[in-house]
Amino acid sequence: MEQLECLIIGSGPAGYTAAIYASRADLHPVMYVGLQPGGQLTTTTEVDNFPGYPDGVDGNAMMEDLKKQAERFGTDVRWGLATAVDFAKEMGGWHTITIDETTQIQARTVIISTGASALYLGIPSEEKFMGFGVSACAVCDGFFYKGQEVVIVGGGDTAAEEATYLSKLCPKVTLLVRRDQMRASKAMQNRVLNTPNIEVLWNTETVELLGDKGVEAVVVRDRLTGAIKEIPAKGFFVAIGHKPNTDIFKGQLTMDDTGYLKTTPGKTETALPGVFAAGDVQDKVYRQAITAAGTGCMAALEAERYLGGLH
Ligand code: NDP
Repeated sequence: MEQLECLIIGSGPAGYTAAIYASRADLHPVMYVGLQPGGQLTTTTEVDNFPGYPDGVDGNAMMEDLKKQAERFGTDVRWGLATAVDFAKEMGGWHTITIDETTQIQARTVIISTGASALYLGIPSEEKFMGFGVSACAVCDGFFYKGQEVVIVGGGDTAAEEATYLSKLCPKVTLLVRRDQMRASKAMQNRVLNTPNIEVLWNTETVELLGDKGVEAVVVRDRLTGAIKEIPAKGFFVAIGHKPNTDIFKGQLTMDDTGYLKTTPGKTETALPGVFAAGDVQDKVYRQAITAAGTGCMAALEAERYLGGLH
């Protein structure tokens, strides 16, 4: 069986940053890219908030650059999906990972950077306008709708936070909440309700998005009366939650009640020796490329120190 010093699962900004640091530290990392090579940034168009790109950068191009940078230092980037894990419990033990349900591989350290997937409504027009009016990240894409009217859907802390963020850029923000109350904390709700240019439509669901090349309007239905109306909007933000990609770690690693991996505060180490988690898979608060990259760097440094302690 192939045995490695460092295996990285997942290929978003956290995984690639871990790969750059791990390969420069001679850990000879192997990365399996997973189902969505490049991660969530490949579903966006322009990335404008990653430091170092004064003119912004296309999400796909940025991930391609990160891949090249990791490969320049010797990271072995492979196609494949980790489908099962059997983590050692003791210090210095071999962790066994199954790739594509067929190949088993062992590693002394594993960096988990499998990310999280934004949940979408699942209506056809949402798919059609993905990246052209539809976004699941207001902090990433809100700026492109500066001065325009936008709609955001959701009733949790993310929706409340993003609606407030958008209200500083856009003249009118309409928040669609499917029930007669929000799930967000009272403080966040109050902020939304006290912001004059945010209108909350309660008991309201999205029917479809209208437009040609981009979104022009959102068709909504009042769930109590059945009344349909059109809201003009150039941007449609979906903030109905994320699902961390942690199914294969169930029963092996500690998670919070929504499935995010738990790490020691201020570190990326999990409860198991030699297993680290970086990026959105362990962060439901910040969820930015730059914070993911930061924790990817931390994971590689912690893996290096862990391996150093074994010899
Ligand atoms: P949540 O799961 O908390 O909320 C999701 C919201 O979306 C709910 O209001 C839900 O409605 C609504 N929703 C779900 N599906 C649909 C649908 N198909 N159509 C319309 N609405 C839908 O997700 P969040 O991303 O808001 O938050 C995730 C976690 O992260 C929470 O624990 C939150 O507290 C935390 N967080 C903390 C922040 C902070 O501390 N600053 C910032 C952001 C998040 P319903 O209520 O009816 O189910």
